[in-house]
Amino acid sequence: MRRYRMDISRRNFLKGLGGGLTALSLSDVIFSRQGWAGFVHPAKTEGATKTTSICPFCGVGCGLAAYTANGKLVSVEGDHEHPINQGTLCSKGQAVFEVVTSPRRLKKVFYRAPGRDAWEEKSLDWAIKTVAQRLKETRDASFITKTPAGVAVNRTEALASIGGAALNNEECYLIHKLTRALGIVYLEHQARL
Ligand code: SF4
Repeated sequence: MRRYRMDISRRNFLKGLGGGLTALSLSDVIFSRQGWAGFVHPAKTEGATKTTSICPFCGVGCGLAAYTANGKLVSVEGDHEHPINQGTLCSKGQAVFEVVTSPRRLKKVFYRAPGRDAWEEKSLDWAIKTVAQRLKETRDASFITKTPAGVAVNRTEALASIGGAALNNEECYLIHKLTRALGIVYLEHQARL
């Protein structure tokens, strides 16, 4: 009787094991889980509302697609239909989701009052209200209606506005409206500095 001997190298063993496991997985999908759907997790954006926006981080202005469900942000990704980035985002842009969701997000400000050497923690609501109050006080105290020669100017020379490259068209429009309404004449942009 003839006997056959089979040499099994480590490589062949692993190849065979891999093939066997793949076959097992496939049969599991086909026979036990009613097709591929059994292994496909639903996308986190499934059923969510898509809202397009612009990345706030730099002047490239990549398009974002923000997905919300039940009043919560569930995902942010590059907008595939945007002509600049066509769905891609740099590493900074990919982190934009965490600007909203991160537990380390800053929710307070530090404030040092004039003449004090200690910083105090204040809420964002307090900061916004205080800045608005001081803006109005400064504007009213410095408002000039006419130059010494009698020319009507209606402006303040005590305030200035500086824009940033991350501002989008709509933000620039609103800031411009606000500053002009306040009588601010010194308008600058970071790109000129
Ligand atoms: S994704 Fe990156 S390159 Fe694009 S705007 Fe944001 S920070 Fe700039």
